[in-house]
Amino acid sequence: MKRYLNLLMVLYSLGLAILQHKPRRRFLGVGIASLRAALLMLSCLAPCSIACADQWVAFFNHIHTNYNDEEFDWATPLKLSVQQIMSRSDTFAKALSVPGSVAITEHNNWKPIADPAFRPFGVVQPIHGMEWAVELGEVTVFGPLDKQLSDSLKRGTNAAAMMKAFQQIHAQNGFLTACHPRSKVRWHTEKRLGVDAIEVWSGIGWKTWDSDALLWWNQLLTQGERITALGASDAHTYLHPIECPMNLVFAKSNKPDDMLAALRAGRVMVLGGPNMPQIFLAADTNGDGIYKDAMSGDALPVGQSGSLRFQVTIEKTSPDDRLILTDRNGAFFNNTIGSGEGWQGNVYRFQRSFPEDQPNFVRAEIRQPDAKTMKSLCNPIYLPMKTAAGQK
Ligand SMILES: [Zn+2]
Repeated sequence: MKRYLNLLMVLYSLGLAILQHKPRRRFLGVGIASLRAALLMLSCLAPCSIACADQWVAFFNHIHTNYNDEEFDWATPLKLSVQQIMSRSDTFAKALSVPGSVAITEHNNWKPIADPAFRPFGVVQPIHGMEWAVELGEVTVFGPLDKQLSDSLKRGTNAAAMMKAFQQIHAQNGFLTACHPRSKVRWHTEKRLGVDAIEVWSGIGWKTWDSDALLWWNQLLTQGERITALGASDAHTYLHPIECPMNLVFAKSNKPDDMLAALRAGRVMVLGGPNMPQIFLAADTNGDGIYKDAMSGDALPVGQSGSLRFQVTIEKTSPDDRLILTDRNGAFFNNTIGSGEGWQGNVYRFQRSFPEDQPNFVRAEIRQPDAKTMKSLCNPIYLPMKTAAGQK
């Protein structure tokens, strides 16, 4: 069986390399990567005075384990152990030279958090999690809840009881994400229903239901909601890569409380995988030419200076990829990276005016040259009306 699993892992790695249009790390690069990983691990062990400045953290979430006793019995030998998930998260975080965080979310049970391997591993910290099936769909719950509340989250809970439980979860600093919403199947709604985030990308490859989920999220943004977009692998076995899609989260540290705060603040970019482009969105509100006044997740007052200046910096892009910029009226920029005015190397700068009487936002996506297949996206900078700010 072990030999069989190894073969699957090799096939999976090959497939992933092809899907991401990027060769695996060069052989000669391994030494440097290992050194960087060792330094990163040392920095994570260092006292907070060194390690607690805000930083990008690789975040993997919505991952199933061999504690999944509800489905795929035939695949039991292929299910991931908690130890394997911690170790794989560590590998991918180190490859990106950032700390890591992982939320393992089993179906309707919290068993993985009692596993001996559920503890910090290498550069990765685990977050308590569960995937809870309610009447409207599934929702992932992150955050340590008290035992009484966790035990009360029963499969199939109806909408009214769900909303009440959502309030209790929020009162205990828990974080809720609507999982894999699909039009007419799960979370078929135009409302937010009390969740903190939407999985706008679920599982490897960009699919029709991901477009549906993105549409729901975008619709809520247009209504003036501030709600986080997340990518989640929903990995069930070895055959599902836990890192596709994944997130980079700008957090004080990779400790659970700091991660939950950063997720809530929307300081998140969603990547199709570790080798996919990274999008850094920023604004300059005082015209000093320094784009550090706001980033993904932040809100700026509309009309403060008539118009606002933005900057998008893109790392790890491929030739002919497209940058798409969207506000409440749809895409206002859709062009090949580097082509046209406004570009300086991998940085695109632009200025926009916004009417004061509507909530608005600016967000960015990188898609393949066909302009359809998503590679990465970032959460918006928000331009709320005063009355709509922070609407829930
Ligand atoms: Zn799931």
